[in-house]
Amino acid sequence: MAAGEAVVVGVRVRPFNDRENNLNAVVCIDMEGPTTRIRNIDTGDEKTFTFDESFWSHDGFEDDGTGYLRPLPNSKYADQRYVFDTFGQRVLDNAWNGFHCCLFAYGQTGAGKSYSMVGYGNNKGIVPISCEEIFRRIGQEKDPQKRYEVTVSMIEIYNEAIQDLLIDVELRPKKGLEVRESKALGIYIDGVIKRPVESYEAIETTIEEATNHRTVGSTLMNATSSRAHTVQIIEFKAVKDGSATVSMINLVDLAGSEKAGQTGATGDRLKEGSMINKSLSALGNVIEKLADRGSEKKKNVLIPYRDSKLTRLLQNALGGSSKTIMICALSPASSNHEETLSTLRYADRAK
Ligand code: ADP
Repeated sequence: MAAGEAVVVGVRVRPFNDRENNLNAVVCIDMEGPTTRIRNIDTGDEKTFTFDESFWSHDGFEDDGTGYLRPLPNSKYADQRYVFDTFGQRVLDNAWNGFHCCLFAYGQTGAGKSYSMVGYGNNKGIVPISCEEIFRRIGQEKDPQKRYEVTVSMIEIYNEAIQDLLIDVELRPKKGLEVRESKALGIYIDGVIKRPVESYEAIETTIEEATNHRTVGSTLMNATSSRAHTVQIIEFKAVKDGSATVSMINLVDLAGSEKAGQTGATGDRLKEGSMINKSLSALGNVIEKLADRGSEKKKNVLIPYRDSKLTRLLQNALGGSSKTIMICALSPASSNHEETLSTLRYADRAK
């Protein structure tokens, strides 16, 4: 991975789920070093892609007795810690160096975005491990003159409206929050809550509160969460001798990339589907252009940030000296071949 690269892409394949195991599913993905190969089992057609990182988890692991999935000796299985060491540490290094950064999880619903970002049970994902690590690093600061201030915001973008997850549903403005720009503040979400936090536990409580405040009640949560983009914004301020360096860490669990709303959907579902497609393709365009700009020939290419709420609000953190990391989550099963191939193609545009 080149040090100065603006966009870094990793792909992560999950193990078979119970349903796939019961159906004796066939695996259509293989990874070797940075190479990912996908095979269409009906036609035998193979496609090969190369990314900065490929995280294997289809086999080669065991439960350590606490539920945590550990790599077996000599396997290429990438556990949560490995993924954090590869990408999460980079996010924190960027913040400590005063850069903004974005970490995205992309992929079809059920492919492992939430597992990578938040995690389940003992298998904590990048977000909680990073939050823990922030306060561990702050605790190790040797310079008595240096102070750190950390705030957390949690928002959801649903049908192109930005909702503050730290506000009760009834108290939110219907149309959502606006993105504004000023000389002093740059681009910001007008009126968003920034909750000051002084420990990992305080962040954890804030995330829990946000989860309870999602747009739709818990029974529908899975259905909805796959249709909204969730963004956790950590504002990290280092203060010394009266001057401050501010870095924004944006951790984004994207809406499911499956072709929702294209076949037979009507009304709200159709609207949702087209909004999701619009914002994911806007993000894809922005990231592709940022990656292009990294090459000498296309230094002056214009970046279409205004094409979606998501790219607009992340404008400060995409481009310039900011760093972007994308994890694309993949299902290993041949029954998902088409969606997985389209995820790989999306990831490939960012290279
Ligand atoms: P998504 O957020 O993309 O909809 P999830 O992260 O909820 O998908 O993953 C679906 C299921 O697969 C969950 O039960 C999760 O625990 C499991 N899973 C996903 N990725 C992995 C992985 N790398 N290792 C083990 N289990 C995984």
